Amino acid sequence: MARKDYDVIVVGAGFGGPVVAKECAEAGFSTLMLERAATPGQKVISSCTIPFYGFLFGPEWIMNGNPPIERPVSGIRNNFIRNGETYKIDNSFRIPKPFWPHFAIGYTVYCRPFCTWLADRAVEAGAELRTSVTAVDVIKEGNSVKGVITDKGEELRCKILIDAEGVQNILAKKAGVRDIFRPETIELCLIYDFEMKKEHIDRVCGYNIEYFWSMPDEGMIAPLGDGSAVYIFTYRDSIHMTIGQFLKSDDGRVPAEKVLDDYYQKFFQTECWQKNFAPYVKLRAKIWDTCAIYAGLYEDQRNMPTYGDGILLIGDSAGLEASAIADGVPSAWFSAEIAAQCAIEALKADNTSAVFLCRYEERLRKHPLITALITDPHRKDLAKALKSGNEAEMERRVNQGWGIGMLNHFAFPVINAGIKSILKNPLVPLRWLSMFRRYFKLYG
Ligand SMILES: Cc1cc2nc3c(=O)[nH]c(=O)nc-3n(C[C@H](O)[C@H](O)[C@H](O)COP(=O)(O)OP(=O)(O)OC[C@H]3O[C@@H](n4cnc5c(N)ncnc54)[C@H](O)[C@@H]3O)c2cc1C
Repeated sequence: MARKDYDVIVVGAGFGGPVVAKECAEAGFSTLMLERAATPGQKVISSCTIPFYGFLFGPEWIMNGNPPIERPVSGIRNNFIRNGETYKIDNSFRIPKPFWPHFAIGYTVYCRPFCTWLADRAVEAGAELRTSVTAVDVIKEGNSVKGVITDKGEELRCKILIDAEGVQNILAKKAGVRDIFRPETIELCLIYDFEMKKEHIDRVCGYNIEYFWSMPDEGMIAPLGDGSAVYIFTYRDSIHMTIGQFLKSDDGRVPAEKVLDDYYQKFFQTECWQKNFAPYVKLRAKIWDTCAIYAGLYEDQRNMPTYGDGILLIGDSAGLEASAIADGVPSAWFSAEIAAQCAIEALKADNTSAVFLCRYEERLRKHPLITALITDPHRKDLAKALKSGNEAEMERRVNQGWGIGMLNHFAFPVINAGIKSILKNPLVPLRWLSMFRRYFKLYG
């Protein structure tokens, strides 16, 4: 008979869940991971770019392991489009020549193999993984969460529940911990996945990820985009292109249906797409996904709790999606590690009350990077430039958010996180260096 009682149940085997599961199992606690998809990572946005600081300051076993990397990224190329043509490029944020390929600003990954790799590490550590199982409700005794009910009607009990279910955060609502995200915070993204041969990717993009910016009258970005761009990420033999649209604007407007496809059609007519991409790509899939990218920018959403009696929320379900470049994986990893520590402390103290678990939120807030990532206003500020119709202002704002000006916001938190790590372990820079070298080899 399948077991029904655990110390820890983790709902969701995306980017964050397996990290908590592995660390709790390693500490000797019986741990179950539930995943609604048939494979870990399958229901997560199909691929993404994970910034280097996620690997450096996230779980050591990821940094020191050999996760399935697709392609390293050397910089961001911001293309400015007017009348269908690129009139300016800002590639000021890139690894300068002598340091490339020894360092990278990030790595592109496909979610399914990457999350499967993470979940395999959790299973190796002793966690149990059940796939194709959805947690549909929580078991509560008074105010305390005591487990979950699955779509198969099973009651699974635990001392502590980790909600790692991503942006939909239904369990957090059922547990009475949070409300669902407001539509103004949620970006609906339409992703086109194209096959493209490596030789063409190398020639057209180099190791850049590409952003395409324009004024609204170009018809290339969604009108309620609050600073949307078209962006292209590169993988081994494929590229992904994304356009996003917020579910509601600050002034209450709701977008028309199918708007994203219209914007794609406009982008496909640009000179850059026609010349550099169109002859070399083959459409493989279209994928929809959502992220609560602005949850950190609205005070009421940012201040919703991340814990309750018997429950901790990590990653997207805790509203930790980064607000400028949508890089939510680092915060999912950072919060997962903090949640694992707090869960272990609570289990050892035999106290999983909210009063004990409030240390989790305190530690999240003290983390050198999480708050900086979720409160970065650059993308929302860009909306002001787009509304003003001032092209020069748009270019300036793009430079601040996606060009070298980005360092004004991020240099201090990254250096701060670096110093904290070095104080803990002075030898850690050697591991960082070996990680960059190894990851480049993994790609090769
Ligand atoms: C279009 C788009 C582009 C993005 N690009 C990037 C990027 O380039 N870089 C970056 O770092 N981040 C990016 N992100 C954000 C990133 O994907 C998330 O921040 C990250 O996946 C959050 O990790 P998580 O563990 O909190 O949730 P997820 O990784 O979403 O995992 C949640 C898991 O829980 C499972 N689940 C949900 N509900 C249940 C349930 N009730 N029962 C059982 N299982 C359940 C899901 O199937 C899923 O596997 C992007 C997101 C989107 C939508």
